[in-house]
Amino acid sequence: MINVLFIGPQGSGKGTQAKRLAAARGIPHIATGDSFRAAIADQTELGRQVQPYLDSGSLVPDELTIGLIRERLQQPDTAGGFVLDGFPRNMAQAHALDEMLAQIGRPLSVVFEFALSDEFALERCLGRAIEEGRPDDTAQVIVKRLTIYREQTEPIVGHYRAAGILVVIRAERSIDEVDADLAGALQQAVA
Ligand code: ADP
Repeated sequence: MINVLFIGPQGSGKGTQAKRLAAARGIPHIATGDSFRAAIADQTELGRQVQPYLDSGSLVPDELTIGLIRERLQQPDTAGGFVLDGFPRNMAQAHALDEMLAQIGRPLSVVFEFALSDEFALERCLGRAIEEGRPDDTAQVIVKRLTIYREQTEPIVGHYRAAGILVVIRAERSIDEVDADLAGALQQAVA
């Protein structure tokens, strides 16, 4: 069983890797951004509440986000492991996650930080914006999400470094190199 967390700025490729790892291991890929977008598409009450935050690139309020993850982690399909992607995104969420995982007796096995400079992140996001047409991928909203990442999300990396479970992946390199790094680190993490 492996419980993995991916942290990284927009454009770092963490979502792609998180999805792939989950598929390869047959464990759920839990991505708060995807859940919020699905809720918006389905026009649920949650979707209605979170839409303005996604549109403007702000963080959704913690009570909504933490509630969503608490419910998701209680689903039986997480018992064999899970991949978290996009949560936690600030210190309050990190502490809430610690508590939830302690309660269910399932600590994180490894945390991957996909480290990427702003220059690379911006360039990749703008490229993706043209390819995918996600509504929050305009230059202005991307810059806002990156600023929030540096100010609120990056500080939680230190929390996991102190816990001794952090692995830094240099995300500016080729997909093949990132793949190799990740595979090696995973082997060590489950050994
Ligand atoms: P990106 O990493 O490119 O910003 P995501 O799909 O991870 O894309 O997130 C999209 C949006 O969903 C965020 O800008 C934010 O509004 C919301 N969101 C996702 N995860 C969280 C979270 N853990 N806390 C608060 N808001 C979140």
